Amino acid sequence: MIDNNAEKFNRMSLERVAEKLKFNGFKEVYLVDSASAAREKVLSLIKINSTVGVGGSESVAQIGLLNELETKAKVLRHKPGLPFDERKKIWRQIFSADYYIASPQAVTYDGEMYFIDKNGNRVAAVIFGPEKVILIIGNNKVVKDKEQALWRIRNVSAVKNAFRMNIKTPCASSGICSECQSDDRICMVITTIMRKPTATEYAIILVNEELGY
Ligand code: SF4
Repeated sequence: MIDNNAEKFNRMSLERVAEKLKFNGFKEVYLVDSASAAREKVLSLIKINSTVGVGGSESVAQIGLLNELETKAKVLRHKPGLPFDERKKIWRQIFSADYYIASPQAVTYDGEMYFIDKNGNRVAAVIFGPEKVILIIGNNKVVKDKEQALWRIRNVSAVKNAFRMNIKTPCASSGICSECQSDDRICMVITTIMRKPTATEYAIILVNEELGY
């Protein structure tokens, strides 16, 4: 059953975030109400025959973008089971792609975006490399401030992603971050985008639905 009050509240939160993102220099910010609208928006932004890098984003998977995207663009992404050296080659190709599509693990009311990564390729590509970065943000990623963002990305995003990827981190066993020193740690790097990096173009799509982790 749709909870109209929750939907209204979540939309207001996203409107506040959109305003702050624009204040932080991101001129191209869209607010849509469904995963399907997000998919159509992303597809409308991608030029035919361009190259598009895609990180291992659950939000991207959940909006059902990839099949249609592959009919109009060359998609650069690694498939499960690919040897690490092959994956690294694809990550390097992504740095010169026309677009990169990813999702932050948290966005604050002040319009700051937080990303975690194990290898660093994804958080690097959202800052510099691809000509344009398209970020998809579900309403579950909105938090009040930096403190809540740092809590969320370790105690929600990292844990769920460890489940998804079947990685045996301590948080995957306990459900909570223990600031581990595991070689499998999936939050080796945390990146914050505070204002629009000057050499990269961005389109940010806020989605009034729960998406990804
Ligand atoms: S530091 Fe370790 S326990 Fe904490 S979120 Fe990262 S991988 Fe999980």
